[in-house]
Amino acid sequence: MLNDLPARNLAWSQQRHAEEPDYFTRLAALQAPEFFWIGCSDSRVPANVVAGLDPGEVFVHRNVANIVHSSDMDLLSALEFAVDALHVREIVVCGHYGCGGAKAATEDLPYGLADHWLEPIRRPARSYAVDLGRKQANEILRKGEAIFRHWSEDNGRALFSQRRTSTANARDDHVH
Ligand SMILES: [Zn+2]
Repeated sequence: MLNDLPARNLAWSQQRHAEEPDYFTRLAALQAPEFFWIGCSDSRVPANVVAGLDPGEVFVHRNVANIVHSSDMDLLSALEFAVDALHVREIVVCGHYGCGGAKAATEDLPYGLADHWLEPIRRPARSYAVDLGRKQANEILRKGEAIFRHWSEDNGRALFSQRRTSTANARDDHVH
């Protein structure tokens, strides 16, 4: 229920404060994310949670099916800010298993406004469908999802920890 959210927020902030008394003062003082994350709006894949990052560690833009439209001023503004102001070191475009947007792009059914939004996926999906047949095109999409799963489950933590270490070294170098 909507009315429950303030109480849930209060309980969360009290718990975070109890666990780490300087958590909010530290967070308020500095936003220095290493990553700019372009992900899907799907409620099951929040960037902080799936990447195991704290607030302040990742700058996030999300839309249906994590699409980069060259005319999307929302995304472009966030990208400009991430690069020019926050100086992020990595830009991640991240899909996920069972993406409804990616699935809709492979189907010949009308979805209203989403049809325009999904066109950058739908176009290559149609091309693959013509060349390889729909079944194989769907397999390609599944493989893409499998690649993400492999990255996420097997290499993601190592990658993040490696990059974090190299960033720390770079900052140390800069200081010295
Ligand atoms: Zn999705």
